[in-house]
Amino acid sequence: MDGCYQASMNGNAQNMEAVANVCPFAGSVNEDVIGEDLFSKQEGVHHDQYLGYWLNAYVGYASADGWRSRGSSGGMVSWLAAKMLEDGLVDAVVHVKDGPDPEHMYTYQVSHSVDELKTGAKSKYYPIEMSEALSYVREHEGRYLFIGIPCFVKAVRLLCREDGILNERIKYCIGLVCGHLKSDFFAKSEAWESGVPLDDIARVDFRHKTPGSPASDYAVEVRRSGGGEPVIKRTAELSTTNWGLGYFKYNVCDYCDDVLAETADVTFGDAWIPKYVNDGEGCNVIVVRNRDVQDLFDRHRDELVLHDSDSAEVYQSQAGGFRHRRQGLAYRLHVHEQRGEWTPTKRVKPSLEGIGERRQQIYAMRTALKNESFVAFRKAVDANDFNEFKKTMKPIERAYTRLSVPLKKRLVIGCKKTMKRVLPSGLTGKLKSMLSYHQ
Ligand SMILES: Cc1cc2nc3c(=O)[nH]c(=O)nc-3n(C[C@H](O)[C@H](O)[C@H](O)COP(=O)(O)OP(=O)(O)OC[C@H]3O[C@@H](n4cnc5c(N)ncnc54)[C@H](O)[C@@H]3O)c2cc1C
Repeated sequence: MDGCYQASMNGNAQNMEAVANVCPFAGSVNEDVIGEDLFSKQEGVHHDQYLGYWLNAYVGYASADGWRSRGSSGGMVSWLAAKMLEDGLVDAVVHVKDGPDPEHMYTYQVSHSVDELKTGAKSKYYPIEMSEALSYVREHEGRYLFIGIPCFVKAVRLLCREDGILNERIKYCIGLVCGHLKSDFFAKSEAWESGVPLDDIARVDFRHKTPGSPASDYAVEVRRSGGGEPVIKRTAELSTTNWGLGYFKYNVCDYCDDVLAETADVTFGDAWIPKYVNDGEGCNVIVVRNRDVQDLFDRHRDELVLHDSDSAEVYQSQAGGFRHRRQGLAYRLHVHEQRGEWTPTKRVKPSLEGIGERRQQIYAMRTALKNESFVAFRKAVDANDFNEFKKTMKPIERAYTRLSVPLKKRLVIGCKKTMKRVLPSGLTGKLKSMLSYHQ
């Protein structure tokens, strides 16, 4: 109904406690505890409240074999998965690839070869679930690498604590930095606003690179069921792509405090920081937590361009996400507590401490923006007109901008709008794209 998966229990679970334990949101074992078990005993390991346990941090990209141009940012995730296969660390990789039909655009699948990995690159801002892929792992002996966003990696780690077979077979996890996961309304709205009607959408590539512009200024590529040329549209020209607004966000993402997949052996994100963002080919921010991964990087250093980084730079690359997931989460938990509602137990405690009035209003409005985006999309579908979505969201978005964007910045945006009337759309798109992922 809202284009999101919801957890459910199939069959006869005997041990209800074990079932509760594997939920990444309601379970009582947090990322610090899992991280400590997995990584803390290694020599030279550091701990940080944002990065979790970590050995080394880098910014860089995979320079060999076209991985970077195939990938969302630096192509390092697919490169590393390929090297783990080639070096015999694992036999197969569990990750997200093209699904069977437009209603299941992307699904978790198992790749056994480098060629299969190549077809699975790029970020999918799309609802996915892993039950079938994990059943496959249970039924087929082997050593597996799992790739996922933070809550999926945490769920896999928790499952491994309960399930001996999975624990033996899932040898490594790669984490993707995560701002939040999207309902399938996101893919549909991007395609629809780009000019492809809902019943003609075959697949959306969420991260089509646009050479010559900053890495954050990318496009979507929409393939049509009816065939013909795909439609390419800069995300900066679409209404739903400002990540700070949180349109079509899974509700549960507002109750997560793990931005950097702290339970993964290594985490990769977008290095959208001033030093690197202008390189349109894309760079990864990288946090290494497992010595085996570091050894692999060292063995194949000639296939990589890596700049040493540190926790401050990694934090900076995700500062907006951390504000929303730490201070914002404390606010949201406090609000629920005041209303007498159930809240999950998080590392962040319910509190208003240090959160000014304006900031509280910003967090409250983000919840409204998220909720209303679902209502507005359904209204647009009923009216068979995407403008209905824009009409519903614009007043709320304007009120949010007045609240969250300082006057000086609003003036710049005003100038941008004026420029839009006189300049080609690509140039103004670049300015808007700089606001993406910023929360
Ligand atoms: C939902 C989501 C939100 C994100 N939010 C942020 C953010 O706020 N900040 C930030 O810096 N980076 C974010 N990222 C990560 C970023 O988009 C890139 O995935 C990352 O930089 C790796 O790029 P790459 O070029 O190295 O990966 P590639 O070489 O392109 O490989 C990507 C790999 O990830 C797998 N994959 C793609 N989508 C999913 C998915 N939904 N679930 C599990 N596996 C998947 C693919 O199968 C592939 O193996 C997000 C990613 C996702 C999926």
